[in-house]
Amino acid sequence: MCAQTPREQVDLSACNSLRLPVRAQYFVRLADVGAVPEAMAWARRRQLPTWILGGGSNLVPRADWPGLTVQLGAAGVRFESAGRGVRAEVQAGHTWDALVAETLKRGLTGLECLSGIPGTVGAAPMQNIGAYGAEVGSLVEAVYAVDRRSGKTHCFSAQDCRFGYRTSRFKQDEADAWVITRVVLRLRTGNPAPLDHPEIQAELVAAGAKPSGRAVREAVLAVRRRKLPDPKGLPNVGSFFHNPVIDAVSWRALEARFPGLVSYPEAAGHRKLAAGWMIDALGWKGRRCGAFGVHEHQALVLVHHGGGTGAQLLEFAQRIQADVLHHFGVALEIEPRVYPV
Ligand code: FAD
Ligand code: NAP
Repeated sequence: MCAQTPREQVDLSACNSLRLPVRAQYFVRLADVGAVPEAMAWARRRQLPTWILGGGSNLVPRADWPGLTVQLGAAGVRFESAGRGVRAEVQAGHTWDALVAETLKRGLTGLECLSGIPGTVGAAPMQNIGAYGAEVGSLVEAVYAVDRRSGKTHCFSAQDCRFGYRTSRFKQDEADAWVITRVVLRLRTGNPAPLDHPEIQAELVAAGAKPSGRAVREAVLAVRRRKLPDPKGLPNVGSFFHNPVIDAVSWRALEARFPGLVSYPEAAGHRKLAAGWMIDALGWKGRRCGAFGVHEHQALVLVHHGGGTGAQLLEFAQRIQADVLHHFGVALEIEPRVYPV
């Protein structure tokens, strides 16, 4: 028996930022990460699948969730000096943006470009959250996670996490195998690393601010407020599709056919295509189809106007994917996790 008995048939519509209707067969919120192995064992004994819910800002509920949904409520940060920097050990249930604000208040830098990202610290390594050229993976020292089958805790180094562009081992090859309980970050003191995002730079110039960590945070928050819909007013999960990364040969062929195509250089001669540009070029930006639509300022963001279901959202997304594939020959992948799988 779990220390906290899971509740049955729990409505989680308010716990996902798309505000899609979904019920969990069983749901438990754990205030202590020490209870994770017990919760996993509870589900295993009943041969039930388990789902981990953070802030619900990167999830698409396709239908109700059978089995046990676990949310980690444990929050808290421990800071300690480490050489010329500071180590921050953070509980998985801590709100990501509260962590960013707290580190900057202490004069620590590294997380400023990742300001304003919704969700929890435990979910951050999942897709190696990133924005404006920064990625959490570059600051991770260790990730502690419980193996859902054995209940044992494992410590992963940053290298073990296999971070990639909006991905990691936790999202890719070992999806749904681990429960992340703690994340250890290595932060710096002093000024932030130089920025190379033109919109953030322009915002700093307009504000007449020196590029301190806190000024960069304010600039990032201002730019995000202008371009990205607040899920509280217009439900969404941020970028719905990944920016595809393709090899140099495919890119040259594509660029010859579509001269305005926006792309950015990646390692090993690869190229990252701006998926939003392709969606926009096909006339989807700002378009509404029933309960769902493409945001008017950012074509990568799909929004829920209310009254829709996860299955309908996925149908809408498939129409966009089919159109992009047909015209550009590029397959767009969905970025948020779709549950049930
Ligand atoms: P959830 O949505 O609850 O979960 C996401 C996935 O992680 C699920 O598979 C879940 O099972 C798993 N998971 C969550 N917690 C754990 C855990 N402790 N252990 C194991 N698995 C876990 N993302 C970016 O990368 N960059 C951005 O700039 C960005 N901007 C956004 C802006 C908006 C307006 C919105 C709505 C979303 C944005 N996102 C962005 C996406 C999202 O906020 C992040 O991916 C975030 O890290 C998700 O956190 P969450 O706690 O809400 O995760
Ligand atoms: P943006 O800055 O208008 O950029 C559009 C796209 O072009 C982004 O996807 C970005 O790729 C890419 N890009 C822009 N400048 C680049 C550069 N100098 N080098 C390489 N790539 C560049 O995007 P936005 O919508 O306003 O979002 C701002 C940032 O927040 C982006 O980094 C975006 O990824 C992040 N964000 C992510 C989510 C999410 O859910 N994943 C949601 C909202 C915002 P990258 O995406 O690789 O940065």
